[in-house]
Amino acid sequence: MADLKLTTRAEDFSEWYNQLVLRAELADYAPVRGCMIVRPYGWALWENITAALDKRFKATGHLNAAFPLFIPRSFIEKEKSHVAGFSPELAVVTYGGGEELEEPLVIRPTSETIIGHSYAKWIQSYRDLPVLINQWNSVVRWELRTRLFLRTLEFFWQEGHTAHATAEEAEAETRQMVDVYTDFALNEAAVPVIPGRKSEAEKFAGAEVTYSLEAMMGDGKALQFCTSHDLGQNFAKAFEIKYLDKNGVLQHCWTTSWGLSTRVVGALIMVHGDDQGLILPPRLAPYQVVIVPIFKSDEEKAKVLENAGQLRRQLADAGIRVKMDEREGLSPGFKFNDWEMRGVPLRLELGPKDVATGSVVLARRDRPGKEGKAFVPQQGLDSAVARLLEEIQKSLHDRALEFRKANTFESGDYGEFKKAVEKGFAYSWWCGDSGCEEKIKDETKATMRCIPLDQTLQGTASAQAGRPGTCVYCGQTAKERAIFARAY
Ligand SMILES: [Zn+2]
Repeated sequence: MADLKLTTRAEDFSEWYNQLVLRAELADYAPVRGCMIVRPYGWALWENITAALDKRFKATGHLNAAFPLFIPRSFIEKEKSHVAGFSPELAVVTYGGGEELEEPLVIRPTSETIIGHSYAKWIQSYRDLPVLINQWNSVVRWELRTRLFLRTLEFFWQEGHTAHATAEEAEAETRQMVDVYTDFALNEAAVPVIPGRKSEAEKFAGAEVTYSLEAMMGDGKALQFCTSHDLGQNFAKAFEIKYLDKNGVLQHCWTTSWGLSTRVVGALIMVHGDDQGLILPPRLAPYQVVIVPIFKSDEEKAKVLENAGQLRRQLADAGIRVKMDEREGLSPGFKFNDWEMRGVPLRLELGPKDVATGSVVLARRDRPGKEGKAFVPQQGLDSAVARLLEEIQKSLHDRALEFRKANTFESGDYGEFKKAVEKGFAYSWWCGDSGCEEKIKDETKATMRCIPLDQTLQGTASAQAGRPGTCVYCGQTAKERAIFARAY
């Protein structure tokens, strides 16, 4: 199959995406519509994502735990806006052990309620605070329109849940996690993100404030990378999460939650990929280097494979994730295409001549053709490879940032705004009124992605940048600029 060309991104971006997920063996369709089977290559990528995040969560004082998959339905109903937001998406179990259950059980769509129930039992005094817990699990939301990784009935993620003594501490935690996710996005995923605040219409059901990171995909559309919610006292009041303060007065806690899911795999595909397939950032790639041995005779084969084995050990000993492609009956050209499609950052070619001269050919996935090829001595190969991987990591980020800047338009005039969201992001003054937001959505299919925390964000200024402080839709006074875009 690897010799069949993918649909190009320009022809049909969405078809390119669907073909690539299947052909690169990241995931497959499941017997239940809307569910996803994550294949070993996709799961290895997800494991590297989870490892990079988990390390950061622990460094900021969080511990992992596991809460049940089933939630009593009454729990979901305790927080008013939460139930309103999630009801249409709930999967409910009514039978167990062959009998109708007294109380139906909801399969968790998220765990604020069941964790809130536990926190109410565990927290008594200010000395018990803060509680900082994360869990890695899967959740179910009955989505009608699904796509592998981007939106599936069941998806994998982490959900952090914390409880604090004051509003300030809860807000600081919420913002800290925005910073943690941003660090992950920039330095591990090589995805430039825009951290910002969601509108009232777009925020999480039950949150006071929702922050998100927004990223631009290769077709100019936005994808929400992750979210961090300041829940105020909403869940603490619904679940009676209380503590005695230093003066012996009973207070409600302030809680937060934050999450990042397998959608991020979709983002990696759509931010970095090209017409040949995936391009994975070295820090997260399941294999950072693939060795393709090249030979004709049996004598050549023996020499090349022996040398290739030594190089594999040299790289593996240096902590580099390396794969040797020893598949029989496939030409080197076929293998090159196959690993290019699967996005391995560096290909190491080794033929009889290279063995004789003590060198190898390294080919960069992000720079096709001669430009990305180099002859490198075998001595000190590990440090040369490590240096190249760092370079690729940085160049992927920089390229994605250039693309976003070139497709972000500081539109002040509504006519220009409409053109901007056809191509990418519109970064425009917005009055904050949900009426304007709604009308923009109806007329352009673009949603308010976020109000960037950094209002000095750079885009391409339009000829008619509009009057500062004037809403792009209604012309009323606006205090902040927002990102509008069509989104996944
Ligand atoms: Zn307005």
